[in-house]
Amino acid sequence: MTEQNLTEESVSKTMLKGLTLKELKDFFTAAEEKKFRGEQVFEWLYGHMVQSFDEMSTLPNYLRKKLNLYCELKTLTLVSTQTSQRSGTKKYLFETNDGHLVESVIIPDIKRTTLCISTQVGCPLDCQFCATGLMGYKRNLTSGEIIDQFLLASADYGKNKISNIVYMGMGEPLLNYANTLKTLHIFAEEKTKDISLRRITVSTAGIAPKIIELADSGLKVKLALSLHSLFEETRNKIMPINKKYSITENLEAVRYFAKQTDTRITFEYVMLKDLNDRSDDLNALVRLCKSIPCKINVIPFNSIAHMNPTGFAKELEPSQKFRVDEFVKTLRDAGITVIVRYTQGEDIAAACGQLAYKNLSQGEGE
Ligand code: SAH
Repeated sequence: MTEQNLTEESVSKTMLKGLTLKELKDFFTAAEEKKFRGEQVFEWLYGHMVQSFDEMSTLPNYLRKKLNLYCELKTLTLVSTQTSQRSGTKKYLFETNDGHLVESVIIPDIKRTTLCISTQVGCPLDCQFCATGLMGYKRNLTSGEIIDQFLLASADYGKNKISNIVYMGMGEPLLNYANTLKTLHIFAEEKTKDISLRRITVSTAGIAPKIIELADSGLKVKLALSLHSLFEETRNKIMPINKKYSITENLEAVRYFAKQTDTRITFEYVMLKDLNDRSDDLNALVRLCKSIPCKINVIPFNSIAHMNPTGFAKELEPSQKFRVDEFVKTLRDAGITVIVRYTQGEDIAAACGQLAYKNLSQGEGE
């Protein structure tokens, strides 16, 4: 078959977005092109953040034509954005090529601008306090779809404006490990150094073996563990994944992670009335934080009432303000770094655990 009689539709195109530097070099070598074309395309994609082959002006014309014919770059389409009047938090709604909706959120702060990205459509974990869990699980996002959230949000918000990335959107990154890792490899390259790995946090509900794998990957990212309770029984109830990977196993894994990467672990702690805000919880938390290099993010529980939860999830209530204050004071008095994540973006359902399709489809575009 000659190049001429191949129409665009007649070939299944190779998706180049989401490929790592090594994969791009291998791709061009296999296509009997020079290996350094892979480096050039890498830089265009993730350094200059272009969205088409035609913009890759250092590639010869014939190659751009060939790439247009056999390869593609489009993974997500920006559907709408919403900005919180209160906090400046900006939520992005993207659509995948097969019609799924994906959300990302930009959270501006004095010192940093953080992009929160999703790794799955929905989530299989079923954490009882989380809106994404309630919408169920559809599929993993590809590495291209994960990285494109950063590229498209940067294009909208301003290139180089995003200083930090947190893998804390919809889904469990360590259950989509291969694709999550690919995107971390992309950020780790010299040409994408605007976002250093030290400014990237992967958040997990606790998939212990994958925490170990990430620790051994050599990628010095930060890790956040959604802790929420140090008691197996309580944690089993609010996070069913605990029955598979217990908190004991996960704490061993994060200890290993902290040692291997020489970073502090972030423990996230959503405060739920009478469930994980008792004195026993506080004492256990203080003991833990003294035994491991860490900081703790205390997160007031954001309502998931809009998802119409039933059963146990319906009963969940936020801890009272005085209880949150007591927790924070006791932890700080014990010398532990505590950040209270006061809700940002609640008015646009972009706060932690509120990202869910249902909400978004009701949102107004800009
Ligand atoms: N699956 C990963 C990342 C997504 S959740 C994880 O579990 O870490 C991101 C963070 O938001 C987690 O710490 C999660 O526990 C928290 N979260 C989920 N629902 C919440 C809610 N309703 N209120 C406050 N925080 C919530």
